[in-house]
Amino acid sequence: MDKKAMYKLSYGLFVLTSAFEGKDGGCIINTGIQVTSEPNRISIAVNKTNFTRELVEKSGKFNLSILSEAAGFDTFRHFGFQSGRDVDKFASYQDYERSANGLCYVTAGTNAYISAAVEQTIDLGSHMLFIAAVEDMEVLSQEPSATYAYYQSEIKPKPDQQPSTGKTAWRCTVCGYIYEGEELPADFSCPLCKHPASDFEKITV
Ligand code: FE
Repeated sequence: MDKKAMYKLSYGLFVLTSAFEGKDGGCIINTGIQVTSEPNRISIAVNKTNFTRELVEKSGKFNLSILSEAAGFDTFRHFGFQSGRDVDKFASYQDYERSANGLCYVTAGTNAYISAAVEQTIDLGSHMLFIAAVEDMEVLSQEPSATYAYYQSEIKPKPDQQPSTGKTAWRCTVCGYIYEGEELPADFSCPLCKHPASDFEKITV
């Protein structure tokens, strides 16, 4: 079995936003898809550790801002590499507006947003799967949507940190962080982007 077959799946990239009791949250996900057209429904899978997942569960609604190729790495760092438990991601952020459902959507580096109301929640262990009815949507720009492959090749900074010659190291495929060591601990998570050991690849120089 070649696990790299999973890399051939294509994904979009999104800022998922929600709010509950006046607290806004947002995170980056790559799991938004349309699942039915009549009625129009989308699904998202969100890691349970994400604060925004809690907000979606409690409020039953969310916005999906679709990231375009104009999105900068700062947007990914802002929404992806810190937790809404620690910081209010909208307190210091200018590039958003509120849609009719009262939730934020991101206006910079995005080409559309979709507002949805949760119909079904399915516990998948590490993730919650939300199936939701589309209630509103707008096109924001004509830039092409960013795919995960585009993020990897064009948006993510090229790694400036290289492992020492001859040493085995592990590179985070999401942000480029390098961990030096023969074995990467199974419970390791990236100190920069918080992604798990399964998102690291082994490199030998
Ligand atoms: Fe990382």
